[in-house]
Amino acid sequence: MYALPVIQTAAPPRSVRLSLTDRCDLACIYCRPDRRDGYLDPEERLDVDAWKTMVHGLVRAGVRRVRLTGGEPLLHPAIVDVVTFLGTLGLDDVALTTNATRLAKLARPLRDAGLARVNISLDTLDADRFARMTRGGELDVVLRGVDAALAAGFDEVKLNAVVVRGENDDEIERLVRWSWERGIVPRLLEVMQVGEGANLADRVVTANEMRARLAHLLVSGEALAEVDRGPAKYLVARHDPNKRVGFITGTSDTYCKGCDRLRVASDGTLRPCLATNDGLGAGHLARGGDVNGVARAVEGAWTMKPDGEHWKGCTEKTAASVSMRGIGG
Ligand code: SAM
Repeated sequence: MYALPVIQTAAPPRSVRLSLTDRCDLACIYCRPDRRDGYLDPEERLDVDAWKTMVHGLVRAGVRRVRLTGGEPLLHPAIVDVVTFLGTLGLDDVALTTNATRLAKLARPLRDAGLARVNISLDTLDADRFARMTRGGELDVVLRGVDAALAAGFDEVKLNAVVVRGENDDEIERLVRWSWERGIVPRLLEVMQVGEGANLADRVVTANEMRARLAHLLVSGEALAEVDRGPAKYLVARHDPNKRVGFITGTSDTYCKGCDRLRVASDGTLRPCLATNDGLGAGHLARGGDVNGVARAVEGAWTMKPDGEHWKGCTEKTAASVSMRGIGG
């Protein structure tokens, strides 16, 4: 196992990403090698009761914000029940990241279950390109999902686009304008050197380059993060202060220093950092209904959190062997 540098123990994790399932119906070129890269056995995944224990334990350990992700969280058969349950806990934030292939059906039930915010991953508005980047995905299906999310009236819909040089980098402005027209907040992500992303190191477009390409649309100055809302930094549109673009610099500036995030893989492993496979198994505790045990395990996992002063996150060598959909990207 790779020896991590100094440990950070000062504050408990406040934010958690739950990989509800490692399954996904797309295979994006920066995420998976292909569609046959292997899933956990079904019995290895936590069932809904175990997830409830896991979440109670996380909350007992100090977690205040939960994001459902995966894999593709909308493939989980009980996704609406999970959202309903999270809504009973008085958390500061419950959000979801999805590829939107199932959002046409699920947007309204999720909204009715209390989900306030949704992030939709969409890298291109060109159907052929979408099929290529996702290895077989259908753009129409996703666009219907976006429409359903807008019609459902979520408080906020964001779009996440990973920008890959030579693939969709000529589409940045189109994605931004398209999002703004719909009241969606666009966010542009650098390819991170995690999993398959490590094979695209020579195709990273940095946030600085993206900013330069959008300079005619955006006010200049320092990009600002939202309080307690992750690493994205935003610039405001010149023509309208209510419109903005977020940049996520997973490669050019790995923002590990302020990271208060823990991840839970679909088998219940607690993962303190996206850039390593190190973790602490808590699936057996969750399955056994042991809330206090989970809370103690969370504290233990947190002592494994790399020190953000020295750790370079997703640019560390260990990141290439991490499965983004397994760990909860
Ligand atoms: N299936 C859901 C989705 O598509 O949003 C949730 C899981 S997916 C792993 C979460 C996010 O990670 C997506 O926005 C995806 O584009 C992003 N992602 C995956 N691999 C990445 C990489 N190597 N670099 C940057 N972003 C990546």
